[in-house]
Amino acid sequence: MADEAKKVVKRTFGVREEEPEFIPNKSMVLQAVRGTRDILPKVQQKWSFVEGKFEQYAKLAGFDKIEIPILEREELYVRSTGKDTDIVSKEMFKIEKREADAESIVLRPEGTPGIVRAFIENGLYTQPMPVKLFYFGSMFRYDRPQAGRFREFKQFGLEVLGDADAAADVELISMVWKIYNEIGLKNLAISINSIGCKTCRPAYTKGLVEYLTQYKKELCPDCIERTKRNPLRVLDCKVEACQSVLKGAPQTTEMMCADCKKHFEEVQKYLNELGIPFELNRNLVRGLDYYSRTVFEIAAKDSEGAQSALGGGGRYDEMIESFGGPKTAALGFAGGIDRIIHKMVEQKIETEEVEQDSVCIVQLGDIAKTICLQIQQELWEAGIHTVTAFGKPSIKAQLKLGNKKGSKYAIIVGQREAIDNSVIIRNMKEGVQETASRKTYLAKIKKNLGL
Ligand code: AMP
Repeated sequence: MADEAKKVVKRTFGVREEEPEFIPNKSMVLQAVRGTRDILPKVQQKWSFVEGKFEQYAKLAGFDKIEIPILEREELYVRSTGKDTDIVSKEMFKIEKREADAESIVLRPEGTPGIVRAFIENGLYTQPMPVKLFYFGSMFRYDRPQAGRFREFKQFGLEVLGDADAAADVELISMVWKIYNEIGLKNLAISINSIGCKTCRPAYTKGLVEYLTQYKKELCPDCIERTKRNPLRVLDCKVEACQSVLKGAPQTTEMMCADCKKHFEEVQKYLNELGIPFELNRNLVRGLDYYSRTVFEIAAKDSEGAQSALGGGGRYDEMIESFGGPKTAALGFAGGIDRIIHKMVEQKIETEEVEQDSVCIVQLGDIAKTICLQIQQELWEAGIHTVTAFGKPSIKAQLKLGNKKGSKYAIIVGQREAIDNSVIIRNMKEGVQETASRKTYLAKIKKNLGL
């Protein structure tokens, strides 16, 4: 130990250095496209935490990961989401056609239709049912940007293909409930409704249109249009005048066929038995053409308005067959990660900062650079994080960076060490240094880091 102490070299490098403040030239700076934003390193931890929770539960529940393209044919959404929905009629980003006869290609506005396409195209229906898939990805909607509403936003999605049972609906809802609670979100509320199926919905829609037509004068201009094109969408209009008209409107649940009624009763029974709190929201329709039977949403009760939903989903029992696939009952969910993170910040939910020990590698001179590149590889192989700045000419500047990045140790290779085949190991906090040979330095660093 005494010998070890003697080896400590008290060579310290002053690491304080002021750099002049840089003022950007505003006339030259480009900004992110409206409705898009950068997810900066300082918030990545929250994103990884949330995505990690989704992935953890998806895997626990036997879901497999799938990635599908961002570019899809416009027709995919016209035929599933529906040509009269806001998403398809107003919000799709179309890609400029390179040839006059080229098909119309769009940036995907949502995940489910692409998953259904992939399910059929890749013959995933030959696998044992249900096929359970999960995905992460950016979605694109040309909407008016505001707090919690972006033109590019990230969703997490779960899809269960090939299960018609009401318990499958509750499995999905219970996963969502569990994940959002595990994230630490408070005041969560699940709303559910059933919008019937292709057997009972036409009669319901007819009754609704007849009712709404009587009150045409009281509806907002959007709802007058919706009554003609997408009447179910009137049900979730937030305008007060429309809300009061809706109080007397026929309800989906009143006119459902016996099968849909039974399905919805079972969903509620299982939810009650599991103790998952939920609210029946007769006006919840979720606005996409492909939904049938159960639709649900998760929101935080401390948020108001259209941007309060943190995720939503439902059944789409008829979609796969309508795309030429086998008759396959299915259901899915998509969570809005941007909104979840925003809510976490609002509710002051912190994620644990996992600090990674790192070693700053400091070099002086060309030979030292080669040695440091080799040392870096050796540290990576040992699972040690490294900090380097090969372009910084002085040892002082490199150590300063190591300090800023929180490196516990530095390995310094100057001209003398390069010739001696040695390195200096510096304890960044205490400023003490010792020399070690190239053969023994790794064992010492590992010991110092407790590895
Ligand atoms: P949807 O695909 O419309 O069912 O949306 C599912 C979830 O994605 C919503 O509950 C939101 O949390 C999120 N979401 C939808 N549109 C946006 C948007 N424009 N910006 C941010 N998040 C969104």
